[in-house]
Amino acid sequence: MRKPLVVGNWKMNGLRATNRPLLDSVREGVEAGVAAEVAVCPPFVYLADAASALQGSAVSWGAQNLSQHEAGAYTGEVAPSMLRDLGCRFVIVGHSERRTLYGETDSLVAEKVIAAQGAELTPILCVGESLEEREQDVTEQVVKRQLDAVLERIGVSALSKAVIAYEPIWAIGTGRTATPEQAQEVHGLIRSHVAAQSSSVAEELLILYGGSVKGNNATQLLSMPDIDGGLIGGASLNAEEFLTICQAA
Ligand code: PGA
Repeated sequence: MRKPLVVGNWKMNGLRATNRPLLDSVREGVEAGVAAEVAVCPPFVYLADAASALQGSAVSWGAQNLSQHEAGAYTGEVAPSMLRDLGCRFVIVGHSERRTLYGETDSLVAEKVIAAQGAELTPILCVGESLEEREQDVTEQVVKRQLDAVLERIGVSALSKAVIAYEPIWAIGTGRTATPEQAQEVHGLIRSHVAAQSSSVAEELLILYGGSVKGNNATQLLSMPDIDGGLIGGASLNAEEFLTICQAA
């Protein structure tokens, strides 16, 4: 059985004064009774604060990006080992905002997945189609291409130490969520694509849905057979709403 996972992606939001009460509320709410695994991914500069607020609790933390390099002359970058040093368990890799706004290619994303695993971080590999691609009916090809770029590099067995997040770009931050059926269709495709190489890896693989998940639509989405949790943007900035989603998982 796959244990559901809910991850908050704060994106470039937060300040120390508001982070602490948010982290404390999430921690208390999760410890008061959430069956799912829960993690938050604040901006790099707040990871140390998250570590001290969440240390020893049921809530893990992670980063939103990482460098593909180990160390060295890469001004402005953050190495995988640094994230590990701060106690991160997860790192989001290949989020569509990284791909579209910062030009991250499928092959760079694959390198980052390798770098994450090399530092014993669990990469949360994001895949998903744009609105145009959905309208052109190429969702399946796009998602398979994004997955294969990584699978070809790491091999299917390494996927047992990764999480996939399906995030249709048209649903991110738009308030327009995929219907549970639309999401399930792609999640099912992803799982069977992996199963074609290893049924045991596919069976254990956590596939999260992301894109305008809110307190009021989480139950329906998360009850679909191949949706194993959520990657939550906007709604992760509000403790009450985030906890409602965690409880739904
Ligand atoms: P959203 O973001 O929940 O605000 O749509 C999800 C994400 O980008 O991970």
